[in-house]
Amino acid sequence: IFKINNLMKQFKGKTVLSIDELNIQRGAVTAIIGPSGAGKSTLLSILNGLTTPDGGKILFEDQDISGGIKHGDYNRRSMAMVFQNAVMFQGTVFENIAYGLKLRGMPEHEVKVRVNEVLELIGLKEIAYQKAETISGGEAQRIALARAMVFKPKVLFLDEPTANLDPANVTQIEKLIVHAKEHYGTTVILVTHNMFQAKRLANYTVFMMNGSIVEYGSNEEVFANPSNEKTKLFISGEM
Ligand code: ATP
Ligand code: MG
Repeated sequence: IFKINNLMKQFKGKTVLSIDELNIQRGAVTAIIGPSGAGKSTLLSILNGLTTPDGGKILFEDQDISGGIKHGDYNRRSMAMVFQNAVMFQGTVFENIAYGLKLRGMPEHEVKVRVNEVLELIGLKEIAYQKAETISGGEAQRIALARAMVFKPKVLFLDEPTANLDPANVTQIEKLIVHAKEHYGTTVILVTHNMFQAKRLANYTVFMMNGSIVEYGSNEEVFANPSNEKTKLFISGEM
C-alpha cells in the first residue's frame, strides 16, 4: 500500500531517516521496532503525510505523497493515527468518538450505530455518557483507538498505543487492532517497544536503527530467523 524509495529526512542538518527501499503490505499489520531515536515516529509521520521528507519518493496506492497530504484531502481521510498519550476533547466519551464522523457530515442515526459498535468492541459501553475528563488513562487510550477505528480507516498508524497500560487494557487494544485488520481490511502500522506485542500482532516487522532499516521481513523471518546480528541482539533485549 506504501512504496518508499531513497527516502531522506534531516532535522537541522542531521540525517534522521535514510531508507533505500521499503514496501508496506496492504491489509497486514506491520510492526516497526528499534531503539529510541531510530526514526520510527518520524517514518510514521512521513507515511501519513504530516511531515514532508527532504528527498526520495513515497507512493500511497500509487499516488505520490512525497509532498505531504493536505488537510481534508481524500487520502487524509483514509488514514487515522493514535499516539501514545491520548488527548480527550470536552464532552462525553460518546461525543469524543462521534465528533469526527459528525464533522464529515454523517447522518445522526448512522453516527449512533457506528459509535455504539466500537464502544461495544472496546468494552466501553458502560461509560459512554461519562465526561471525558473523568476517565482513566487506560480508558482514554482505548477511546483514542475507538475514535480512530470508527472511521474504518484504510490505514491505521499506531505509535506505541499500549505504552503505560495494564495487561487488561493492552489485551483490549490488541483485540481491536486485530478486529480492524480482519473486519475492516485496515492496514495497520504499529510502532512498539514491546517485542512480544510485535510478535503477536504483526505479519511483517521492520527493525530500524539510526534512521535506517536493518531488517525487514515476515514475522517468522525476523523473530525466528533474523539475518542480522543486531536484530538478534535487539529482540533478545541485549541491546
Ligand atoms: P522513540 O522510540 O524514543 O519514540 P523514535 O524512533 O520514534 O524514538 P524519532 O522520534 O523518529 O525516533 O526521532 C528520530 C531522531 O530525529 C531523533 O534523534 C530526534 O531527536 C530527531 N527529531 C525528531 N523530530 C525532530 C524535530 N521536529 N526536530 C529536530 N529533531 C527531531
Ligand atoms: Mg517515537
